[in-house]
Amino acid sequence: MIKFKVKINLKKIILAILSFVILFMIGTIISVYMYPPKGVMIFEYHRVNDESCNIDDYSLSREEFQAHLDYFKANGYHTISLMDFIRAEKYGEELPENPIILTFDDGYEDNYTNMMPMVKVMDMKATMFMAVNYVGKENYVTWQELKEMQANGIEIGSHTANHLPLDSSEVTMDNEIKLSKLLMEWNGLKTIYFFSYPNGVYTDKAIAELKDNNYLAAVTGDAGYNTFKTDKYLLQRTNVSNNRFGFLGFKWRILKTKILYRLGINQH
Ligand SMILES: [Zn+2]
Repeated sequence: MIKFKVKINLKKIILAILSFVILFMIGTIISVYMYPPKGVMIFEYHRVNDESCNIDDYSLSREEFQAHLDYFKANGYHTISLMDFIRAEKYGEELPENPIILTFDDGYEDNYTNMMPMVKVMDMKATMFMAVNYVGKENYVTWQELKEMQANGIEIGSHTANHLPLDSSEVTMDNEIKLSKLLMEWNGLKTIYFFSYPNGVYTDKAIAELKDNNYLAAVTGDAGYNTFKTDKYLLQRTNVSNNRFGFLGFKWRILKTKILYRLGINQH
């Protein structure tokens, strides 16, 4: 009997795998630059606030937010609303080149004092998702401000009533999905059509409840591009946080969104 002694050179194998992964990633990055994905990128912001940005990961300073708006303008991106996106799909209405949607979760008052005027000056659009039981609480918008925002073209959606992830045991879908919408409409806001999942958590039950209550679409926290084929109740969204890499971190999030989409990772 002849015995073969196979000498495995672990180092060489690891090196080969590593080179393959690196080459694959470089190829993917080149591909997203040469053939950028087509679709709508939705951005997830929270606060625009010069004080809280020092202590909170979800706050951008006004200067930093302005840099994002300038970047979008300089790079040919055009802001649309979620309704523009839905109408384009339903009625074939045309969208501008490189459409993006700027969304703001939770309903902080700095969205009224800082975000709205900054977006307006740039002639851009934005969407704010309100956690409705926070209306009028410290640091959150009042009913009057909410109405003014809607009258000024800011699209308003629901972010539930109590901002609890929809898989938690204390959640009553009726309160979080149905009443949060109705409460805003009863308080004088125009019909609420859009929804944002707290902590990005969605369940089949929540999606069914959204459809039953005439919401047209909902946004997740899963990064990616949105096309007319994307599940309207699981729209992809790129999270923008106050990360320590600053503007470079923001650009990395955009690149990451493109890569995840190109590789089909966690796309709905
Ligand atoms: Zn939230």
